[in-house]
Amino acid sequence: MTRCHVCFRHCELNEGDTGFCGARICLNGKSVPGNYGRITALALDPIEKKPLNRFFPGSRILSAGSYGCNLRCPFCQNNDISWGEDVRSCPETSELITPEELVSIAEKQKKNGNIGIAFTYNEPLIGYEFVRDTAKLAHEKGLKNVIVSNGTADLSVLDEIATYIDAMNIDLKCFDPETYRKTLGGDMKMTVDFITEAVRISHVELTCLIVPGISDSPELMREMTSWIASLKDSKGNLIGENVPLHVSRFFPCFHMTDRPATPVSCVYDLADIAREKLRFVYTGNC
Ligand code: SF4
Repeated sequence: MTRCHVCFRHCELNEGDTGFCGARICLNGKSVPGNYGRITALALDPIEKKPLNRFFPGSRILSAGSYGCNLRCPFCQNNDISWGEDVRSCPETSELITPEELVSIAEKQKKNGNIGIAFTYNEPLIGYEFVRDTAKLAHEKGLKNVIVSNGTADLSVLDEIATYIDAMNIDLKCFDPETYRKTLGGDMKMTVDFITEAVRISHVELTCLIVPGISDSPELMREMTSWIASLKDSKGNLIGENVPLHVSRFFPCFHMTDRPATPVSCVYDLADIAREKLRFVYTGNC
């Protein structure tokens, strides 16, 4: 038996068990990533699609996804590889690709504008060992490494990959701990702590999906952006106002079809509130 340290769930796993995320398993008394090298999606995407607007704009990045997630957002757009029914078949349907092979594919795509590898689509930190091993090799080949994450991981996980990560987009899905817990199955404190540390070690952009009834409160947007503005670098200098924020529009999806798409005016109004504190606020899906 072991207890997984990767996220706040601290799953207790007996030999052969799979954790809540569907990715980690207990093998020889240790929590290991059962999804190591299991690639479900691979595409050369514009960097702005991550979204990263202030990191090598105009470039493209080889984007790789595996399977599993430690949150339970009912509106997940990647539910087929995160926590929907289809995930059960991912271990069989995914392609096994080694870190060396993925880096080699990324290198070949340099001629098409590729700058590196983005670990994205599902939650990459629940399989941080593959990220670490691949990103280390990618750096040796002069490639950049990007993480697109829900930021729900222990700081020891961030330590493991910090040296090799050049940029991250992290979801800050709302600014209410109860909603994080009840509606998303998350832990806001863990995410906030992760972001606080991440901005000290790498370029970070944040994303907030504006879902009616969950994250569309002007007051909470004020609180969230005041907190972002207070973030500091490793020397204690205030850098928060320069952290880009992507404010995106929700469309009904997966288990959340009980409400309409977010009104465009709502997204624009919340972006204006964010601009009271932050210099770089972008709207998406509008
Ligand atoms: S990473 Fe997965 S197995 Fe580990 S604690 Fe989180 S949900 Fe559980």
